[in-house]
Amino acid sequence: MQPLSASQILALWDAGQTRHPIDRALLALALAMPEEAPDELADRPVGWRDVNLLALRNATFGSALDGYAACPSCGSLMEFSLDGATLLSQLSAPLRDARVRVGGRQWRLPSSRDQAMILDAPDPETAVLTLLDRCLIDDPRQPDRPATVDTRKMPEITTSPALISELESRMEALDPAANIRLGMRCTDCGHVWDAVLDIGTCLWDEICSRARQLLESVHRLAGAYGWPEAAILALSPARRAAYLNMIG
Ligand SMILES: [Zn+2]
Repeated sequence: MQPLSASQILALWDAGQTRHPIDRALLALALAMPEEAPDELADRPVGWRDVNLLALRNATFGSALDGYAACPSCGSLMEFSLDGATLLSQLSAPLRDARVRVGGRQWRLPSSRDQAMILDAPDPETAVLTLLDRCLIDDPRQPDRPATVDTRKMPEITTSPALISELESRMEALDPAANIRLGMRCTDCGHVWDAVLDIGTCLWDEICSRARQLLESVHRLAGAYGWPEAAILALSPARRAAYLNMIG
């Protein structure tokens, strides 16, 4: 994976300002993977997206991945530091045609588009049902289909908690990168929990931080030398830093 250039970082920061985090992640991948059709990026499994986002952030910002998570018990922010290259080596993107088969029916893995479609769900239960309904790819009218759902209001799969639980665990096993968890311990209250690592959010925070540095550099170098923004962004990081040092 090639790192994002300075001008790509600023373009991404600019375009992502008013976008949802899922869209920001897809914008980043569209820039980094021009060989992929932009429309198809949204249909790739969530873990495929996040493995590639992790590769992109490692290439652009280096292996050290620092972040923080709020303790669910006392609210204190706990920092974490991990090695992005090691994490990436432990993950694999799911196969394009990965399927979960349960009771003669089959589901594909949830995609970014599926995630986006459940953002407005009124509650988490409806969100899960809608997601599983979208991912069901076999004939919904087979004879043994459970008739337990009011299809006027609810998605069209069974609401059996056992089936939902099995589907969730089978999907997670097929696409572990879609749900990366970090073992955390709160140093203030001792609470122990698993924090979800959101690669897209980590990348966006780093994009914002780097964009602010780049804008500051453009502001100072343009003021000192009169160079246009594009010329300043095209400089290598070493030359930009050297000129910044010269103007003090
Ligand atoms: Zn705590």
